[in-house]
Amino acid sequence: MNVIKKGVFFGGKARVAIIDIKEIVNEEIKIHDLTPLSAAALGRTMAVGAYISNNLKNADSTFSVTVKGGGILGAVVVAGNGGNCIRGYIENPHGDLPLKSDGHLDVGGGIGKEGFITVIKDFGLKEPYMGRCELVSGEIAEDFTKYLHTSEGINSAVALGVRLDSDGCKAAGGIIVEALPGLSEDELFMTEDIMSNFTNVSEVLEKMNPEEIFDFYFSHLDAESYDEEEITLKCNCGKEKIENTLRSLGKEECREILKENGKIEILCHFCEKKYIYGEKEVEKLWE
Ligand SMILES: [Zn+2]
Repeated sequence: MNVIKKGVFFGGKARVAIIDIKEIVNEEIKIHDLTPLSAAALGRTMAVGAYISNNLKNADSTFSVTVKGGGILGAVVVAGNGGNCIRGYIENPHGDLPLKSDGHLDVGGGIGKEGFITVIKDFGLKEPYMGRCELVSGEIAEDFTKYLHTSEGINSAVALGVRLDSDGCKAAGGIIVEALPGLSEDELFMTEDIMSNFTNVSEVLEKMNPEEIFDFYFSHLDAESYDEEEITLKCNCGKEKIENTLRSLGKEECREILKENGKIEILCHFCEKKYIYGEKEVEKLWE
């Protein structure tokens, strides 16, 4: 099961979220035919998406996070709602690079760092919230840490990881700790010390589930934990949405495409579902 486990420690002066989305990453590998490199980039960003989704208070609120740094993988896009539903895609799912000298996948090289991480949250108010921040390394974790600090004023430590072998994803997710007001120097130091265990967070996630990670690393620190919540991979595309898009395209434009191609094909980037409309179906849209 894909889950997020949250809790507080140091008497409520720090917050932790532990995310396990191994199964989602395995599904995404199948849907998009991802290389290990693109699976790592998308998987890390989806862990960020799971965290944002779970932080939205209302299930009807929506969000998207886009990481685009000019590298060979192109943009990574993750979207979802406040009901723990996420979806994602990567522009170049077949992008690949040699491993780094330490044997790790070169996610930073694949994403590039000449660009931005952009987060949009729509709470159903007049204007959606948008935060944007220049990339640090393209490795996602550092980029999201900086985003949280500069755009949302949150001091955090973010560890993200995806572990793969020839059979697919063995572990994926992350651990995000936020410092809340009142955290002392000593407590901050201890928090940094705990986070140093998560430099290879996917290794930790492969050995322990989020419950066990919380118990082992945080539960002795005046902590309180909340029930795990399930994270679901779910697309929001569907006939109604596609037909609205076609309607907004206009009757003449649609007829033009039909004349050229004999049909209108719309592909959902998130789930790769193809919607095909022939002349009859298109005419029906304006009946
Ligand atoms: Zn879809």
